Amino acid sequence: MAKAFENTFQWSHTRARTFHVCKRLYYYSYYAYWGGWDPHAPPDVRMLYLLKKMVSIPMWTGSIVHRCIEHAIKSARVGTIIGVDELRVMALKLLASGWVDSRSGAWKTEPKKAVNLAEHYYRQQIDPEAAGAVMQRTMASIEAFHRSAVFQHVCADPASVLAVEEMMTFTVETVPVIMVADLVLTMGDECHIYDWKSGGVAPLVADQLAVYALGAMMRWKYAQEKVRVYVAYLGDDTVREVTCTVQDIVRIRDTITDTAAAMLSFCGDTGRNTPRPRKDYPLCRDASVCSSCAFRQVCMAELIAEEDGAFFLTMQKLKDSASLP
Ligand code: SF4
Repeated sequence: MAKAFENTFQWSHTRARTFHVCKRLYYYSYYAYWGGWDPHAPPDVRMLYLLKKMVSIPMWTGSIVHRCIEHAIKSARVGTIIGVDELRVMALKLLASGWVDSRSGAWKTEPKKAVNLAEHYYRQQIDPEAAGAVMQRTMASIEAFHRSAVFQHVCADPASVLAVEEMMTFTVETVPVIMVADLVLTMGDECHIYDWKSGGVAPLVADQLAVYALGAMMRWKYAQEKVRVYVAYLGDDTVREVTCTVQDIVRIRDTITDTAAAMLSFCGDTGRNTPRPRKDYPLCRDASVCSSCAFRQVCMAELIAEEDGAFFLTMQKLKDSASLP
């Protein structure tokens, strides 16, 4: 008989951030959905899985940019240089098929493959102008990548690619850590890590970049001063180098062990990574977070049960405007 797929604890920047933002969101995202990929799972578990797979339009278009770039780099690694027109066509096809999938509800039977857009699911008004601008930004990001110095470098020296969109694991103290860097290159005696951003220039997520640097040090045994991290804002055709100092590395190691301990303290059985009952994971009750949360459908009744001024009104308005499936 096949061994059951175990839900083991692995620290990631996203997991720690989710835990920080909302304990209930953390519970749904890392525990309660477990097993929902099985169409015969209990309906509430299946629903949480479907909601977990849902994406907003900016998340979706960002993932398309990542997929196109990954395809171009992996092709270059095997000696095939992809032209910009081919990448544009690939992006357009993904945009078209994702939109159709989301509209048709194909994700109900194929949640892993078919896109479910939050804007469709929650029947939000989609401003055609804003949607058009997002699509244009997607294409502009792909074009910017294609003419970038880093892609020219990959085409000229594909052997310098150490990893592209590869899941990497390492351990800090006893904490298993998981990370996915967009692109890791070896250049001379240095390691260069790239993070693609298809949105506008935004405040840097310093912890996330420090995890990348730490991961490269652990995986490829680079000294800290030999690791360089770059954030490429493709939509703005801007690349920014971020310095990760020794202090940043010490700090991120402490952050990993501290936040892992905090997350594990919410387990019923720490060794087996089993959760406590749902009620032990409080709702954040932050309208700025809840109003765009994928799980708001399952929280709604609890959220509006306690009336507290502006928060209640915001959530009530959302409830009234959404015709939930
Ligand atoms: S709707 Fe709000 S309370 Fe519920 S999981 Fe999302 S962020 Fe947390």
